[in-house]
Amino acid sequence: MKRRILLQGFAALTVLPLMPACRSQVVGEASSPITRINKPHKEWRELVSPRAYQILFEEATERPESSNLVYEDREGTFVCAACYLPLFESAHKYESWTGWPSFTQPIAGHVATKIDFRMIWPRTEYHCARCGGHQGHVFKDGPPPRGERWCNNGIALKFVSTDEQLPALRG
Ligand SMILES: [Zn+2]
Repeated sequence: MKRRILLQGFAALTVLPLMPACRSQVVGEASSPITRINKPHKEWRELVSPRAYQILFEEATERPESSNLVYEDREGTFVCAACYLPLFESAHKYESWTGWPSFTQPIAGHVATKIDFRMIWPRTEYHCARCGGHQGHVFKDGPPPRGERWCNNGIALKFVSTDEQLPALRG
């Protein structure tokens, strides 16, 4: 009995940090036309660089300023470096001065979120809705109107300018 009360108390506590992420979680997943593929992580090793693999499938974070995509300002689309699903449009990229490519919003339904408890304060992690590859974290300190900062690892993305054709999805 005592244990049950303890568990209920814990459940109530964990609801609180989940709440801020609810909206993007529902928007990101409910309208998703994307079919999730369940390719084993180790099979992606042959398709992406070792560093990209660590970020995408082991949730590592690149050092700030380590990706050329921070300064990419051409028009185009940012696709997942693993499966090539388009995740962000250049129209939504902005300079956040953090050293990571930052966006005000993703392509609707193409990313999914989860709560990441790696730090003391929970953060909202997001990943490619198709292959599950980790991309970055979303914060509530972005510019209006949405106030969101989608802070992405540049190495987890590939830029395709409007002059080029989008690559076929892989995996
Ligand atoms: Zn992907």
